[in-house]
Amino acid sequence: MTPIHVIGGGLAGSEAAWQMAQAGLTVVLHEMRPVRKTDAHQTDGLAELVCSNSFRSDDSEQNAVGLIHHELRQLGSLIMACADAHQVPAGSALAVDRDGFSDAVTEALTQHPNITLERGEIAGLPPSEWDKVIIATGPLTSRALSNAVLEKSGEDALAFFDAIAPIVHFESIDLNKAWFQSRYDKVGPGGTGKDYLNCPMNRDQYEAFIDALLAGDTADFKEWEANTPYFDGCLPIEIMASRGRETLRHGPMKPMGLTNAHEPDIKPYAVVQLRQDNALGTLYNMVGFQTKLKYGAQADIFRMIPGLESAQFARLGGLHRNTFLNSPKVLDGSLRLKADPRLRFAGQITGCEGYVESASVGCLAGIFTVMETSGREIIAPPETTAMGALLGHITGGHISRNDGAGKPGSFQPMNVNFGLFPPVEAPKTGEDGKRLKGKEKAKAKKRAMTDRAKVDFAAWMSDLGLQKLAAE
Ligand SMILES: Cc1cc2nc3c(=O)[nH]c(=O)nc-3n(C[C@H](O)[C@H](O)[C@H](O)COP(=O)(O)OP(=O)(O)OC[C@H]3O[C@@H](n4cnc5c(N)ncnc54)[C@H](O)[C@@H]3O)c2cc1C
Repeated sequence: MTPIHVIGGGLAGSEAAWQMAQAGLTVVLHEMRPVRKTDAHQTDGLAELVCSNSFRSDDSEQNAVGLIHHELRQLGSLIMACADAHQVPAGSALAVDRDGFSDAVTEALTQHPNITLERGEIAGLPPSEWDKVIIATGPLTSRALSNAVLEKSGEDALAFFDAIAPIVHFESIDLNKAWFQSRYDKVGPGGTGKDYLNCPMNRDQYEAFIDALLAGDTADFKEWEANTPYFDGCLPIEIMASRGRETLRHGPMKPMGLTNAHEPDIKPYAVVQLRQDNALGTLYNMVGFQTKLKYGAQADIFRMIPGLESAQFARLGGLHRNTFLNSPKVLDGSLRLKADPRLRFAGQITGCEGYVESASVGCLAGIFTVMETSGREIIAPPETTAMGALLGHITGGHISRNDGAGKPGSFQPMNVNFGLFPPVEAPKTGEDGKRLKGKEKAKAKKRAMTDRAKVDFAAWMSDLGLQKLAAE
């Protein structure tokens, strides 16, 4: 049988290899460590966790990442089985003994009769005689391979991002303070003239905000991260603030061309703009607010902004060196490179973020390859499920629009979160018949989302006979 080649034995590559081998395919897994190291990995183990040992919340009723845990377990995931077997106490989170976990994954894969592990870098495009390949080389993909993929995909650059801006759940923004308006009411291509949410600041609020930014704790960086240059025009806001107290007011926080719909006679001293980040309109990103402030400091400082006092963040800002594809443009719906469909991508290189998300995209890439190899139609999980919502973000859910300054909107990696799911009808009253409010209302909504996801995921598995695959 012609083997399927998987490049990269991280979270995604390990899961992809496992899913295919369990379904009876022959797999060659290529991992470059220890022959060639990355800047972050420390061992030669497969599925090494490079930083925290947490798989985050294991609550599949109230948390989107907990829901992915559930879906992966349904599919017989190796990553979840090894995590469960090497769990350490961490409250409602799933945290693991990182060495025990990585050793278990390595052993399961190397012992599998259908898998051969080859150590060594794939330093360029896979040879043409490899029929089907999954590339799961992660955020630290070796330079030779990333350059080759770049050339093949026809993109100007594999996206290397430095500082990223926070993303806020729309429903947590106070619309009694924020208002919709594009600067100078410009309609632009595909716009309405009301494409931004604007949060106004008076002079005192602006000065207090600048003080907080200048005093804010910035994250500690590894040396290789500290040496990563910033892109022009993408400086962290605290660096801009340190260049002069007025810099932000003349940059991303300029108030020009905007009239506060709630107080039309009062000219704001500064304005924070948020731009729709997904097609559903459930997520908004803070325009120009890329930052390397520590997470706790970010939440405190950004909640000083009028309208964002109760903001819930789908993603906080951060600074990473990262290699990822412009997936909505270059990949098809089953993660294949449009320019060379024998190459399928998985893991963080596709534009998801996080261990569990990477494993789940690896799981999907493996399952899609199984479907393709057996000549079946490739059917992805519905967008109402956690894996389907994440896949939707990667392969096309993100809207790419002009930012008003003439620059195209960009695709950015993301953790799974409820903002990626289509809206759901949630119960308005509790069991006692009383109207649900506040936290109870939010809980009911999340429960409705996860209940729907579980039903739809089970139906998808059943339609495709995937239970059989998981049990084998
Ligand atoms: C510094 C850093 C800290 C992070 N901290 C966290 C965290 O705390 N929590 C979290 O959830 N996520 C974290 N992430 C994100 C994390 O990397 C991903 O969540 C996850 O590891 C990505 O999985 P992956 O399988 O896509 O890539 P990886 O797990 O990185 O696996 C990719 C594998 O491919 C191999 N490889 C690369 N190029 C080649 C080649 N040319 N030939 C052969 N093999 C190759 C690498 O050696 C590696 O083993 C962090 C990322 C970085 C860079």
